[in-house]
Order: sequence, then structure tokens, then C-alpha cells
Amino acid sequence: MREIQLQEPGRITIAEVPPISADVGAARSPEDSQVIVRTTQLGLCGTDTKILDGHIPAAKLPITLGHEAVGVVEQPGGSYLLVGQRVLIDPGIICGACRMCLAGRSNICLAGGLLGRDADGVFSELVTVPAHRLHVIPDAIPPSAAVMLQVLGTCVHALRRPAMTPGQRAVVIGLGVSGQLIVQMLLARGLEVLGVTRSQQKQELARSWGAAAVSPNEAVSAVDDYTHGVGADLVVEAVGIESTLGMALELSATGGVIIAFGIITSGSTGLPYYNLYFKELDLLSPRGALGADYDEGIRLVAEGVVKTEPLVTHRFELDDATAAFEAVRQTGALKVVMSP
Ligand SMILES: [Zn+2]
Ligand SMILES: [Zn+2]
Repeated sequence: MREIQLQEPGRITIAEVPPISADVGAARSPEDSQVIVRTTQLGLCGTDTKILDGHIPAAKLPITLGHEAVGVVEQPGGSYLLVGQRVLIDPGIICGACRMCLAGRSNICLAGGLLGRDADGVFSELVTVPAHRLHVIPDAIPPSAAVMLQVLGTCVHALRRPAMTPGQRAVVIGLGVSGQLIVQMLLARGLEVLGVTRSQQKQELARSWGAAAVSPNEAVSAVDDYTHGVGADLVVEAVGIESTLGMALELSATGGVIIAFGIITSGSTGLPYYNLYFKELDLLSPRGALGADYDEGIRLVAEGVVKTEPLVTHRFELDDATAAFEAVRQTGALKVVMSP
């Protein structure tokens, strides 16, 4: 079978490796059973390119990349799953025993990690996953919409912590895949949403969900108009660079909430720290998702509250992985999908 391996920072190969065989003997329970999943759709995101470039270090080399995949059960092992059932892979690695896992926060497991970064990932024709990491995808979700369920789970997780009231004003900076999903969820919760991006095409998409959208250079005056000078109750930073986090602090109302959703791996220009203090802001930094977050995302898509299909802009075969990784870097790109 083929898989995409990172050999060293900047260099990937498509490796032909022996097919895996199930080891069902060690399972303590059906949930612990090792299930073999045949992947059907693989999603790429900025995290993958950051790992490729070495900005996020991989735990070992070579490593099989990837953390976003849906597929069908090939061998259920001793689990409750059925052959052919469609599943979403939760790419989080958890210990189940540390103080964060015991507190119900396994997304920040102290011994945890992410497939494709800390252990071999999902960019492979077949993947072995414990049954408790798989979420069944209902028939109501078409295959082309399912590949976004992993990202959506992390967006659901990000929006769980702040208290929100219908009618509040939210700003989402960065309208990539996560930004577009977050815009839709905030609108569904009754908030008024302003999206900020340079891309006309991404602005249009945000408007199609019912949000307003402007360019970064219009953001300050637009938020002033839109909130009558008060500032936004909630600002989501979904770009992952320091300057847009700084913009989030400036656009926030006094007493506002900032969600630092984008992953910032370096910065040096400085943040408006005085705003952070003076406005008494709540700065939240969500990471990953819990199983319940994936289930909630599946419900939102199955019920049509969140639309994911319009977010796929590029499709590639697994053999075109190099082109797929390049496509993620293009300004107009939203979700880049590979088919094994
Ligand atoms: Zn991702
Ligand atoms: Zn743990």
C-alpha cells in the first residue's frame, strides 16, 4: 500500500509499504480493538505544511504525514463496528490516565499527541486506529462533505468555552476553512458576524452564509461602524500569525473574548499588550477536539446547519501529493483533498 512520508524537512516521498494486518489479540475491550480503516478522503491543512517545512517538528523521521481522514472499516477487529461502515478518524493520541484525561480534557492529554506529527499519520491507503478514536458518519452526510469533519470538530471545540448570547457582535479574522466553518456556527448561534480577509472570493463565501465581510485595511472602521464604536464581543483569530492576533486585540470590545484559533509558531513584532491589559480581555487558546466535539460537528453537518462541500477547492490523487501540498499554500485555496 502507498503512504506519504516526510523523509526530512521539505522532502516528502510516496512510499510503497507492506499492507498491515490486524492485531486483535491485545484488546482489553471492544473500544480498544484495533480497527483497520481503508481511507477514502484525506484532507490537508496548514498544520501539514508547517510540519513539512519543519516549523512544527515531527517526533520522528521518516513519518507518515496527515491527521485528516475519513474512510470505511476494512477489518473491525473485535470492535462494535461493521465492515464497510463509514468513519471519521479522530487523530488525537491520548493516554486516558493523566490528570487532563481524567478531567475530561483528553484533547490536551499530558502524554498525548497528534497522528502525522507525533506518530505515523493517516495519509495512507490503510490505517490502524483504536475503535474509540472512530466516529460513525451517518448516511445523511455525503462523502464529499465528510472530509471536513475533523477540522469541524476542532472548530466546535473552540467555540465551546466562551459564553455567547444571540445578537452579540463577532469578528472572524481569516476566512480559510476553519474561519468559514466558525462563521457558519456563530451565525447559527444568533450572533452577527463580520469576516476579515484579503480574498474577495472568501469574502463572497462568507457573505453567502449571511455574514458581512471586509478586507483587513477596512476592518477597524467596519468594526467601529458595526458596533457603534464599542468593539466586538468576540474575536476569533483564524490565521495564525502574530499581527492578526494583534488586530484581534484591537478590534475587541473592553471585556471582550479573543479566541486564538490559528496556530502561531513564531512572532517578533509584538502584540498590543496594553490593550490586552486595559480591556481586561479573555484570551482563549483552544487545541484539538474531544470525541463529543466530533459528534457535535457530525450533527451540525447532518442537519444542514453547517455546509462543508463549498469549501473544497482542490482535489488530487495520492500520487500527486507534492502538488497537493503546494496547493495548500495558494492564497485562494480552501480545503485541499486527496483520494488514495
Ligand atoms: Zn488539519
Ligand atoms: Zn492523558
